[in-house]
Amino acid sequence: MEKQELLYEGKAKKVYATRDPERLIVSYKDDATAFNGLKKGTIRGKGAINNQMSNLLMARLEKEGVPTHLVEELNDRETLVKRVSIVPLEVIVRNIAAGSFSKRYGVEEGVVFEQPTFELSYKNDGLGDPLLNDDHAVALGLASREELALIRKYALAVNRVLGEIWRACGIILVDFKVEFGRLGDGTIVLADEISPDTCRLWDAETQEKLDKDRFRRDLGNVEGAYQEMARRLMGK
Ligand code: UDP
Repeated sequence: MEKQELLYEGKAKKVYATRDPERLIVSYKDDATAFNGLKKGTIRGKGAINNQMSNLLMARLEKEGVPTHLVEELNDRETLVKRVSIVPLEVIVRNIAAGSFSKRYGVEEGVVFEQPTFELSYKNDGLGDPLLNDDHAVALGLASREELALIRKYALAVNRVLGEIWRACGIILVDFKVEFGRLGDGTIVLADEISPDTCRLWDAETQEKLDKDRFRRDLGNVEGAYQEMARRLMGK
């Protein structure tokens, strides 16, 4: 399958059409942004790592009953995916307090929850991705009740599966963000990516941060953290 015209260029990925209207090619970039685009940079090797890691994790999720957009990895940086229309929600599951949760509720980073939390933000950069609940999402016409119930079920399944995978690598899954899309027939599938850009991942022994927080917070050795995550998961 060959790339045709560029349909969309986002912060970390480019999306190309193919000759098949039901298939797109995603190309992962080394570019990184944070704080709604205010902070910009490059993380060398990130595109290839995120592409391969996301594909490995999505393939595992498929086996565990979570449908995804994945079709096949084409090369280091590029993957063939099913065309979806993205549900404009950032779906966040948390196991440990961190980031915006800690800030919003005045809870120290690292407090472990008894149960995971599920939350939704409206994916809208102009509004700063505001938090919303199911009623708000329905009122805004972003998703139906049935879709929201399915999204919640899938997101919690993703948390269980990813939590186990990372635990086996000596990594704690603190929280993550996923996005869902609708296929042509309306089927909800997991889309976008799962990577150190979209998850908080801490070393189980040292609590060292091995994710995009190293970039956001200028902690240094950002490339090293991505490489370490690739090594732990894929042995390279
Ligand atoms: N996240 C993301 N994209 C976003 C916002 C958050 O991938 O636009 C991820 C982030 O990496 C973390 C989780 O979602 O793993 C929860 O992020 P949080 O709400 O704490 O926001 P942040 O502190 O990153 O702004």
